[in-house]
Amino acid sequence: MEKEGHKYIFVIGGVMSGVGKGVATSSIGTILKARGFKVTALKIDPYINVDAGTMNPTEHGEVFVLKDGDETDQDMGNYERFLGEDLTRANYMTTGRVYQSVITRERNLEYKGRCVEVVPHIPLEVIDRIKKAAEESAADVAIIEVGGTVGEYQNILFLEAIRMLKLKQPQDVITVIVSYLPIPSKIGEMKTKPTQYAVRTLNGTGIHPDFIVARAERPLDSKRKEKLGLFCNVPEERIISAPDVESIYDVPLNFEQDKFGEQILETLGLQNTQPADLSKWSEFVKRLKVIEPTVSIGIVGKYFGTGDYLLSDAYLSVIEALKFSGAEAGVKPVIDWINAKDFQNGDGLEALGTYDGILVPGGFGETGIEGKINAIRYARENSIPYFGLCYGMQLAMIEIARHKVGLEGAHTVEINPACSHPIIDVMPEQKDVIAKGNYGGTMRLGVYKAELVKGTIAQKAYGKDSVEERHRHRYEVNPEYIETLEKAGVVFSGTSPDGVLMEIAELPKEVHPFFLGTQFHPELQARPLAPHPLFSAFLSAARDCKKGK
Ligand code: GLN
Repeated sequence: MEKEGHKYIFVIGGVMSGVGKGVATSSIGTILKARGFKVTALKIDPYINVDAGTMNPTEHGEVFVLKDGDETDQDMGNYERFLGEDLTRANYMTTGRVYQSVITRERNLEYKGRCVEVVPHIPLEVIDRIKKAAEESAADVAIIEVGGTVGEYQNILFLEAIRMLKLKQPQDVITVIVSYLPIPSKIGEMKTKPTQYAVRTLNGTGIHPDFIVARAERPLDSKRKEKLGLFCNVPEERIISAPDVESIYDVPLNFEQDKFGEQILETLGLQNTQPADLSKWSEFVKRLKVIEPTVSIGIVGKYFGTGDYLLSDAYLSVIEALKFSGAEAGVKPVIDWINAKDFQNGDGLEALGTYDGILVPGGFGETGIEGKINAIRYARENSIPYFGLCYGMQLAMIEIARHKVGLEGAHTVEINPACSHPIIDVMPEQKDVIAKGNYGGTMRLGVYKAELVKGTIAQKAYGKDSVEERHRHRYEVNPEYIETLEKAGVVFSGTSPDGVLMEIAELPKEVHPFFLGTQFHPELQARPLAPHPLFSAFLSAARDCKKGK
């Protein structure tokens, strides 16, 4: 039997999606890390898309960009935030990525003329990738979340990979099923049957869960535990009650209370070298619960409506970044979702006057763009703190060019390639890419360095002279308009080391209490225990704005 250094915890979903598999995965990581283990987390996305960059954010949620530029699922953001670590492209795979490697290998004759089959070659490639990720991060434990739910056609080959790995290394592999127990209002009782079916379906793939994380509105009572234990064939103490919580950051603390960590170590045969130290985490969770004072933040974006439901998942990292800075400063940011389309004709902008801060997040394309520009103008002219992220910075430059400089035809070539004043232009290296229609994974992606200008708002907030931040964009401030914008009062407080690319733009404090935009996405590096300085500066300005009202 193969013996090696890494242990593997697979997390799969039962009954339905969206019940917190990603948070469970992240929280398991947090409690193991708190014991001194080196932990890494992987996400398996069953989509054929090679990365999340080409997926629709309305359906799939935010595209989370890793340090190395990989465009991934928003769960990767949760892992990074809970673990407080940067992950790499080795930690993310999609069905498309797995097939792509197998097919490339086949074309290169690496299978030495043998028949290449879905089983075992696809699951073997999955196992290979998981092992590489564990290896790369020197992890004691790798936690792997399998997207989708048990019983779906799409993730069957990933379950097959778990079965095959467990067969080879039974002592190194455990499986956790995160299931849901509904309490139908007309019945008024928590029902275990859907979870029983989910476990049975999982059993049909040759996998038996070591743990059940029982998600429900309320905690599990002993009757339900007993029933689940008996019918699902899982010892009662390995059924972890996971009721709805006020904040997802409570989950590691709840897991710990249920002795989940200890039991995981026991099932994996790992020695508990040190007791779990979650003191910093608990302090953060406590601070997060501050309810006063509040600051109201309006996020002017799109992507919100899906049928009858309003989704804000596309901006998940922005929301979390605001929360972390709020917890640090002892203020509660209250977020309102504002549909940019509402301001398309410039009507009704006074509604924005009630906010202490306005934020325009990243975005693409034409939808709601004039509404965003109008909202930015309102924030600038009415001294409301403004924070623009990527598109939010580009549009702020267009706004200033149009209304302060008077360049009516100011625009981005993304929307109007023939505009008379291309304030935001395509990056030279992107011209080719666009001409070839080669869109997947071809933007300026991942971490780039920016030099900061001494004494500016950005430099003071960061407290250093250079930073590394994550990017995801195809367009840039056009060098030909830098002087014009500077004459209009814009200070480019962060630039690429060669001075060519404008990374941060701001208006000086004498002119506006806080008007700052970044070409990068600061939200992607905000962490619970290390809030992002620019978000903190924005919130602090919002707080002052509220006081002054
Ligand atoms: N659409 C813009 C660009 O490609 C901004 C991208 C973004 O906000 N992430 O440059």
